[in-house]
Amino acid sequence: MSVTSALRDKDHRFLWHPYTQMKDYEKRDLLLIDRAEGIFLYDVDGNRYYDTVSSWWCIVHGHNHPTIKGGVRAQMERLEQVLLAGISHAPAILLAEKLVQLTPPSLTRVFYSDNGSTACEIAVKMSLQYWQQSGQPERHQFIGLERGYHGDTIGTMSLGGTPGFHGPFAGLLFHSHRIPSPYCYRCPMGRDEKSCDIECLMPLKTLLDKDGDQIAALIIEPLIQAAGGMIVYPPRYLTRAAALVRAAGAHLILDEVATGFGRTSTMFALEQAAVTPDFLCLSKGLTGGYLPMAATLTTEEVFQAFYGDYAENRTFYHGHTFSGNPLAAAAGLASLQVFDEEQTLARLADTVPYLHRRMTRFLDLPWVGDLRKLGMICALELVKNKATKEPFSPTDRVGWRIYLAGLRQGLILRPLGNVVYLWLPLSATRADIDEITDRAWTVLADPALFPEIRRSASHE
Ligand SMILES: *Cc1c(COP(=O)(O)O)cnc(C)c1O
Repeated sequence: MSVTSALRDKDHRFLWHPYTQMKDYEKRDLLLIDRAEGIFLYDVDGNRYYDTVSSWWCIVHGHNHPTIKGGVRAQMERLEQVLLAGISHAPAILLAEKLVQLTPPSLTRVFYSDNGSTACEIAVKMSLQYWQQSGQPERHQFIGLERGYHGDTIGTMSLGGTPGFHGPFAGLLFHSHRIPSPYCYRCPMGRDEKSCDIECLMPLKTLLDKDGDQIAALIIEPLIQAAGGMIVYPPRYLTRAAALVRAAGAHLILDEVATGFGRTSTMFALEQAAVTPDFLCLSKGLTGGYLPMAATLTTEEVFQAFYGDYAENRTFYHGHTFSGNPLAAAAGLASLQVFDEEQTLARLADTVPYLHRRMTRFLDLPWVGDLRKLGMICALELVKNKATKEPFSPTDRVGWRIYLAGLRQGLILRPLGNVVYLWLPLSATRADIDEITDRAWTVLADPALFPEIRRSASHE
């Protein structure tokens, strides 16, 4: 048995893959990745794939970057792990300083954890305990958005709006309020771009007018609801939502787990809406995508509500074994160094508009209903009927077909339902963008991939 087929056999015997129907998985060829370089993943047979989803939205400067590798390697020689409870180390301290410098001035404190779900869950727990220790214990309810996604733990599922993922656990979730998604292509208020005055925020206003004094916080992904279908929405929605929440005296939690670190063209998406949150949740791109790490940033006001004599019992009793792990923090510092050295954000001023222009022609395809663009993220919503916006049914599994066709073109396309997207590393060059969009065109312009459309057309 070759090494590859032995691995394949063991994969099928021992592994259970995330977000994967294992019965499907067993039927297809195993994609066994051996190494990666820049924007490319290479499998054991030497086949090359464009990492068009940045390895689940986290790779920032490309794979195998010498600066990040060097930072982690040097740290490995000194200290790989130590508890952060009551003990400290240079990488955690220096990365916290950098994060405070890069984010709005009112965010002054960094609380580490190790994944995006915990970053959000920490913000929720801090907000709740803050209100208890600030004389407003009646503020214990949270608001989230339809199609919002903040993670897969019980707490973050309770605030999410992606019931497809979370259905079986409904009985365990705590109650929270849900407001409409600013899903412009399928506007919940029946408006279009010209007539929109962000009427979809009315339910938030109504809720806050009625129960505002019981609300602890609103949690929202700034500018794009990513896992909920790559819903890009106008910055003024966020600006106004933040103002409403402020006026009601509640907290604003911005979940920048996906958008942080340049993906939307600015270091953080919040800059484009000029909002300042009480809590900022970061993870995926924090280490350049090299190691698991997360951070929840908050204000001095929140910090002070937990500060006091031991006997007052104001401590935040929360922590994870790997909170602030030195190797991960070293990767984070190195990634920020690359932002400086390679002028990463400045270079996006060229590549981002170029990518957006290259995507425009996809709108000519009869099965592409909407094109959504934000920084290095572009998404196409596929529809059965462009005029009526009739979606493909989940049983059509168009996403699955596109995934398989993408692999044949050397692309890792992993559609979310009927939404095909590119989520490119910031290091992608014009030449990479040409190749990726040409190959994506080859996949998506092929009518053989959409037999439903021909069938319905021939009935007319
Ligand atoms: C991925 C994601 C999370 C969860 O992060 P994990 O590290 O997968 O737990 C939370 N919020 C947003 C916006 C995300 O995209």
